[in-house]
Amino acid sequence: MTDEQIKREALGALHKFFGYQSFYPVQWQVIDHVMHGHDAVVLMPTGGGKSMCYQIPALIKDGCAIVVSPLLALMKDQVDALVDAAVPAAAVNSQQSDSENRAVIEQAYQGHVKLIYISPEKLLADMDTWSRQLRVSLIAIDEAHCISQWGHDFRPEYAKLSQVKARFPDVPLLALTATADRLTRDDIRRQLHIDQARVFETSFDRPNITLNVVSESAARQKLSRIVRFISRHQGESGIIYCLSRKTTETVAEHLRKLGMNAAAFHAMMPTEHKLAVQRDFINDEVPIICATVAFGMGINKSNVRWVIHYNMPQNIERYYQEIGRAGRDGLPAEALMFYSYSDVITLTNFARESGQSRVNMEKLHRMQQFCESTVCRRRILLNYFDEAFDHDCHHCDVCSDPPERIDGTILAQKALSAIMRTGQQAGMTMIVDILKGASKAELAQAGYHLLKTYGAGRDLTFRQWNAYMLQMLQMGLFRIAYDENNHLKVTDYGQKVLYDRTGQVRVMLSKFDPRTFEQRQVQKKQQQTILPTKEQVDKELFEQLRLTRLALARAQGVPPYLIFSDKVLTVMAQEKPTTFAEFSVMYGVGEAKAQRYWRPFTDTIRRYNDSR
Ligand code: ADP
Ligand code: ZN
Repeated sequence: MTDEQIKREALGALHKFFGYQSFYPVQWQVIDHVMHGHDAVVLMPTGGGKSMCYQIPALIKDGCAIVVSPLLALMKDQVDALVDAAVPAAAVNSQQSDSENRAVIEQAYQGHVKLIYISPEKLLADMDTWSRQLRVSLIAIDEAHCISQWGHDFRPEYAKLSQVKARFPDVPLLALTATADRLTRDDIRRQLHIDQARVFETSFDRPNITLNVVSESAARQKLSRIVRFISRHQGESGIIYCLSRKTTETVAEHLRKLGMNAAAFHAMMPTEHKLAVQRDFINDEVPIICATVAFGMGINKSNVRWVIHYNMPQNIERYYQEIGRAGRDGLPAEALMFYSYSDVITLTNFARESGQSRVNMEKLHRMQQFCESTVCRRRILLNYFDEAFDHDCHHCDVCSDPPERIDGTILAQKALSAIMRTGQQAGMTMIVDILKGASKAELAQAGYHLLKTYGAGRDLTFRQWNAYMLQMLQMGLFRIAYDENNHLKVTDYGQKVLYDRTGQVRVMLSKFDPRTFEQRQVQKKQQQTILPTKEQVDKELFEQLRLTRLALARAQGVPPYLIFSDKVLTVMAQEKPTTFAEFSVMYGVGEAKAQRYWRPFTDTIRRYNDSR
């Protein structure tokens, strides 16, 4: 094929099967490269459009593409989506019977299948036969970071994929991953024996995800903030990540009592139950999941609209991966994280018990710095992943509403003095109790009610003290002696602040604001939208289109987002197509889907128009 032909056919397939008009820049570079027979490593964040990089070449090249995927659920999702778009795709894996698998392979040998999704062990088991009998157009290795021991998700069965290149020397090999760290990237090439492969990379920024971080320790406060947050996201899907199994259950229970449709998910649940929860979430039947970290791997759902961290995650990698599950369709999504002193303690214990405590402690420390940051959060995140991001993002809480700075020297001196007067034998909670002048048995027993600093901080609330103490910890005024019952110890820097006689040493703190970011946003919005706008009216139609999609999905037994993404529904609600002709030229509507779905959706739109 000439370059001109490649371009024309690639665009033709993109339009025919997926209803899109153009490639993202890096997508096209990868496709062009693969069409010329070369190997590639593709690094894009979740939602970056990796699949198209191998699906389009698979569609326009002769033969059948082999796509290796580690998770059965992901495989099924991809195949269902392709089949719905009339692409001849199929899966070979251990969930299907031998005869089903054999039938797929037979079809492929006869040239009736363009893409085979396969688990690594199935490919390796029959690699000789495949290489002899199948005309392989390309091999794509999805979630390629699973091959690296450096990565966070090493899979032994992936390691054996190192044999693939030798067995298929002339077939272009693509390794794709959303893992951002450099060690893993380099390792992928080495392990797959494609040292010459070109690396294609896009920014790992996820600009559609708004970032919010809130210092909050009280469960009651967190829950009420969560309830307000979810009320702004009626009917939308989201995940609440918790550190403990018990919290997943109490939070889900709390939300259910308030009439919200929430379920818990954690590793100790029976497999059957876990699968059911996952399925209900994917199918838009239960929109809210309170989960431990185990949830989300292998979930491809593109319309997760928000992620809440009930507790601080242990490192930035994990945080980024978890918020990344929101907004894969590119529409606006929101991330909200709570962090507190007790999270720091719990996570420190985890880190110390882990095999690599030094590394994990350092990572935890970076996570804490991220929470306490007074500069753009996205700058910190992307710089953490070695991406030079040198401007403010304007859609994180720090950018939208920079914290007010206050002179906290006196506050710091009160706290440090309290710590010294306990002989540095008390933990954070006790120190705050002393400052507040709380009457607690344990406090009196230790004689702390007789200290000069007892009640010296009455003018602030417990929440304020907790938030300020955390900032002071972060600034290095005192440290936590984890091996001495978490007692607080004043550092050299803290001593300098406490005993300063020059009046030169100042401690600047970010002012504690009891309103949440979303409260402030809501206030801003209320001021802006007094009259119903066109957007709000469209929202009603969007809801009806969503119901139409849900009914179709239930009837077909596939997840709703596989029929059309939220993004396509949004465009539909704006453009309001009422005829086949209008429907078929819409963004995200390929030929097969136009035929299959134009009636139900245009009917809904016409009904909506008539009712107005
Ligand atoms: P990833 O695998 O990198 O997470 P996907 O391949 O699932 O990302 O793509 C994310 C979304 O973007 C999907 O809904 C996909 O249909 C859409 N998409 C991909 N390429 C394009 C394109 N060129 N134009 C419009 N939408 C696209
Ligand atoms: Zn920002």
